[in-house]
Amino acid sequence: MGYSIKRECLQMILEASKEHYPMEFAALLSAKNKVIDELVLIPGTVAGDAHAIFHMWNAPVDFSIVGTVHSHPSHSARPSDADLAFFSDNGPVHIITAMPFDTDSWRAYDAGGNRITLQLVDRGLPNSVQF
Ligand SMILES: [Zn+2]
Repeated sequence: MGYSIKRECLQMILEASKEHYPMEFAALLSAKNKVIDELVLIPGTVAGDAHAIFHMWNAPVDFSIVGTVHSHPSHSARPSDADLAFFSDNGPVHIITAMPFDTDSWRAYDAGGNRITLQLVDRGLPNSVQF
């Protein structure tokens, strides 16, 4: 079973991407039961060049972190070579948003840079089994 993301979390990502334009926005993704529900901002690096930010990041000991998200200040959500290099070391789910930062202009990738589908989960939906 794959990962999914809460709709409100995706909206937060798209808004932050818009706010930071033309800078890049970058954060870590946190999940519970494979549902991404939280953004973890990287201390001291709220906005800037995501590719530089992720190089500075040392993985926190937090097993809820499942991957990364960053924005591209362009119309391409394709991962760059630098993106692919850090995807491979930083978890199974990576989101890239691109202009105009709407619900159609984001893509998700696995650690190998292959496109994956994230299901959107609405708040209040009786979704998963609780463990
Ligand atoms: Zn990138």
